[in-house]
Order: sequence, then structure tokens, then C-alpha cells
Amino acid sequence: MANRSCIIRLSRYKNALNRLKTLNFVRVFSDNLADAAGVTAAQVRKDFSLFGITGNRRGGYKVDELSDQLNKILGKDQLQEVVVIGMGNIGKALFHYGGLEKSGIKVAAGFDIDPVKFDRDSSQPVLPLEGLVDFVRGHNIVLGVIAVPDYAAQQVLELMLSAGIRGVLNFAPICLKAPEGCIVNNINLESELENLIYFVNALEDGK
Ligand code: ATP
Repeated sequence: MANRSCIIRLSRYKNALNRLKTLNFVRVFSDNLADAAGVTAAQVRKDFSLFGITGNRRGGYKVDELSDQLNKILGKDQLQEVVVIGMGNIGKALFHYGGLEKSGIKVAAGFDIDPVKFDRDSSQPVLPLEGLVDFVRGHNIVLGVIAVPDYAAQQVLELMLSAGIRGVLNFAPICLKAPEGCIVNNINLESELENLIYFVNALEDGK
């Protein structure tokens, strides 16, 4: 079974491959992908072999074929719809971020409890939280982002689960536990920056 780091690397290989595609590359070698993803060529081959992707020592991989295989593994062969709960600064930024669509991810709707945030008639609406369950079920959505304050996050997670959401990206500054049948990735921007500060200071101290 692949782990989270492996899947993040596959995503990087896929992005590198897309760039090479636009440069009209027909074949690609593990070295090319390794450079782009900041890993060794042996790591690239190991990751691919986990999914039965085999190249040819002299000819490398066919770009189109490899791209299709990676898209399939990453679920990118079909559009993935996502809902965002909490339309504060983080939620709004994700909601409006156009970079997701080229990766086959579409933010279908946002949800909030503050009527000032509602925008019901837009093609990408912001709706009252009460409408979440019906919307998610009606659109067969399994992915959601939490961008509400920490005290509201657990309750929002439970509502998302009851709607059928199975994958959650949590930006609320609280570590949410994944209940059975659901995957929760916690992203705490403050901890990430604190982590950087610690290691940058360690670099300075090592000088
Ligand atoms: P951010 O943390 O995204 O920068 P902010 O500081 O602008 O946000 P917060 O107080 O964190 O604002 O709230 C984020 C959003 O979450 C707000 O739009 C708020 O109305 C909304 N919100 C708060 N509680 C809930 C809830 N239980 N369900 C849905 N949305 C909520």
C-alpha cells in the first residue's frame, strides 16, 4: 500500500510530466522526473513499480501513457468536486483559486453560517450550512475543506460525514481525528511556519 509521501511524489511527477508535455517531450526518463520532484531516479522507479508502471531502461517512459496512468491512480481521469465550509480568509482564497481546475478539481460550492457570505444564485454558490447535506448528496461529492474556526470544526466534520464526505482537508487550527471510513488531512499553517522558523534558526546557529 502506498503511503501519503508516495502519493505526494506521484502528484509531483504528474505535474512535471505535464510541463514536459507542453515542451513536446514524447519520452521521459526517471532522471527527468527525479530532478523535477527533488528525489532520486531510483525513488521514481520504486514508486512506479508499486503501481506496476514499468519503463524501458533505454527508452524511458512514453509521456502520454505515463500521464494517463498517473491520472488514473490519482483519480484525475474524472472531475473531482469539492465543497468548502467556512468562507473566511482561507476558505475564500481556496474557493477562488483557479489553479485547482487544471488539476481536475472543482470547488462546487461554499458554505457558511453568516448570511453576509451567501451568494445563492451564482454558478459557484455560497450557501447556508443547513443546505450542505442535500447539496453533497445531490452532487455525489466525497471531498470537503474545513476552513471554520477551531471551536466549530468538529461539528462541521460530523455534518460532512453524515452527508457522505469521505476525504477532508482541515485548515481549522485544531487536529481532527479521522473517524472510520474517512480520511482527514490536517493542515495547520501556524505549525508549518513554526516548523520552518525552528529549522531556519537551526541553520543560522549552525553557521
Ligand atoms: P480564516 O480563518 O479563514 O482566515 P476569518 O478569520 O476570516 O477566517 P473565522 O472566524 O476563522 O474568520 O471564520 C471563518 C468562516 O467560518 C467565517 O466566514 C465564519 O462565518 C464561518 N463559520 C464560523 N462557524 C461556522 C460553522 N459552524 N459552520 C460554517 N461556517 C462557520
